Order: sequence, then structure tokens, then C-alpha cells
Amino acid sequence: MGPLGSPAFPLLLQVTSTNALESYHSELKKITSSQHGLIGACNKIIALDLKRYSDSDYVVFEFRVKKISVTGVDNDILKEIHKFPLPIQKLIVNKILFVNDRIEKGKELPGLTSLKCHCTFFHKYMFPCKHIFHEQLYGLRKLLTIDAWN
Ligand SMILES: [Zn+2]
Repeated sequence: MGPLGSPAFPLLLQVTSTNALESYHSELKKITSSQHGLIGACNKIIALDLKRYSDSDYVVFEFRVKKISVTGVDNDILKEIHKFPLPIQKLIVNKILFVNDRIEKGKELPGLTSLKCHCTFFHKYMFPCKHIFHEQLYGLRKLLTIDAWN
């Protein structure tokens, strides 16, 4: 059923918290009143529903489709990063930016020989960390192959 169908149902199915539903109801209360009559109320509900749908489309777009842009990162690496949802893209790009930090501080190449690192970030997320990127961007060993990303 489309956006004009049962308004509360899709929300109920998608969210584990009822916050979305409660905010939907409070918005509904704000815009509807007995003075509008039945048709008026229906029109308001439909308008709110359509807004809700475009809001959630936007969130999905932000999460799934939006691609982070960052300068100075190899296109091949960026292409792999873009396969992740936006919050993960940000997380990973942050680690790349940290590499510059390491270089400014005069830190040497970590000397990693495989795609494993001892640091907390790597253990927590299993994503490439600043050490792996340091090795990748400035070392001779290119550990982050397409296979590795997969
Ligand atoms: Zn690390």
C-alpha cells in the first residue's frame, strides 16, 4: 500500500522504539482540529504522511547512497569506502586523515606485514585503521587489495 494507505502501520513495522510513532501522533494533533472538518483532517493527514515518506527517503539516501568526498585519497580506496553506509565511510575516512597527523608527528611506518593491527580501533571494528592506512599510503607493501576489502 502506498503513502495514502494505512498511515501508522509502516512506521510500526520499521521502528523498534515508539518515538517515531509518538512524534507522528503529536504532529498529527498539532495540524488537525475539529474546525477543519473530516475532509480537512484527511487532507492534513495525507500531507503529513507524504512528508514522513520523503523524510524517511532522505534518511535512507543519507545512509545508503550518499558518498563521502575527501581529497588526497586514492580513487581505488575511495571506491571501496563508498560501498559502506555513510556513518562507516566517515569512520574510515577519519582514520585516513589521522595518517597525516601521524606523519606530522614524525611517526614512522608501522611496518605491518599483514592486514592485522594491534590497535583498539582495528580490534573493535575490523576496519582498516590509521596504521594500516599509513602503511598503505606511504609504505611499499600495499595490503589493502580489492580482495582484502571484500
Ligand atoms: Zn591500527
